[in-house]
Amino acid sequence: MKTDITVSISQELLQTIFEGARRLYPKETILLLRGEKKKNSIKISELVVPPLATHGLGFANIPLHMLPMDFSILGTVHSHPSGNLTPSTTDLNHIFGSILMIVGFPFADERNIAAYNRDGKMLTLQITKP
Ligand SMILES: [Zn+2]
Repeated sequence: MKTDITVSISQELLQTIFEGARRLYPKETILLLRGEKKKNSIKISELVVPPLATHGLGFANIPLHMLPMDFSILGTVHSHPSGNLTPSTTDLNHIFGSILMIVGFPFADERNIAAYNRDGKMLTLQITKP
């Protein structure tokens, strides 16, 4: 079941995420998502590299307590080299912010991305074109 919340991200930011994920493949990449949250919509406007060099450690190894207490950080995006877009139990137990975004191999188009809320429910994703 989907919630009525829509997450929007530009095609350009999505490509940036995909490029980072491809570069680190088969390791995982993780980025923080910054943007604006309204009642029924979440708009991602910027990607932030986590303050620590966490690349390749896997999502569970990110020290979430070290992340900035910044309310413009809406959540995280990380890659699944397996291509599976379903959040793992570990992912769901380590949600930071209000959304969990997952990109999956081959990191090519909008079929390779999904967004979830804190309860693991899939959110509607809108890819905005310039
Ligand atoms: Zn994961």
